[in-house]
Amino acid sequence: MVHTQQITNMRKKIIAANWKMNMTIGETESFLEDFRMEIEDVNGVEILIAPPFTSLAKLSELLGGSQKVRLGAQNMYFEAAGAYTGEISAAMLRELFVRYVILGHSERRQIFGESDALINKKVHAALTSELRPILCVGETLAERDAGKEKEVLETQLKGSLAGITAEQMLDTVVAYEPVWAIGTGRNASPEQAQDAHAHVRAVLTSLTNAETADKVRIQYGGSVKPANATVLLGQPDIDGALVGGASMEPRSFAEIVKAAAK
Ligand code: PEP
Repeated sequence: MVHTQQITNMRKKIIAANWKMNMTIGETESFLEDFRMEIEDVNGVEILIAPPFTSLAKLSELLGGSQKVRLGAQNMYFEAAGAYTGEISAAMLRELFVRYVILGHSERRQIFGESDALINKKVHAALTSELRPILCVGETLAERDAGKEKEVLETQLKGSLAGITAEQMLDTVVAYEPVWAIGTGRNASPEQAQDAHAHVRAVLTSLTNAETADKVRIQYGGSVKPANATVLLGQPDIDGALVGGASMEPRSFAEIVKAAAK
């Protein structure tokens, strides 16, 4: 028991901004200026911004290797190079000092038809290139209403993480994002989120082992805002947040980061 508690405390909270297809280079510059002032005194939280690809180079230059705010990408392709029009490789992201890459976001799954098998190839490619995947999983409203949320999470995790070693699992972050809570203003209750996170950790245990699963960070995503961040982040298996809408305004994103630092 004591052992578990010690390991749990080692999970540094990770708060990530997913700007999706928003924010020009100019908007990125002014966001960063304001955001940096807001978080000047905040420590002990890993902060990450995943802008559109077009802002990565500028943000990388502005961050200049900052340890406080890290760079993430919203997607990548699994092949190293070649005739894949419109795609971006892991090496291209690494060249810009990107540390994390969001994979399997529900918008990629639903709008662009990404399967667990494709996401699994991307997860392997990211890890091989020393990029840390933020693997998104989550059920739709119909699946929750049918009582199938745990089954869906298990299928997505097993499919997307197939062949991942325990060591690689430690470099991976999982984001539980119920589809019905993304961009809808309707967040999962702290109890619903905790229940899902505990289930995700149990599946990770079955895929690796209890010691590894205890160390993996699991973010919650879905209408996180300053008003609900503290209670969500206070749940024992919630180790951070993946934030869409509220991450584009410097003060509201900073408030969420501060809630994680408490
Ligand atoms: C997301 O896109 O990952 C997300 C959680 O969005 P929002 O915070 O706007 O619900």
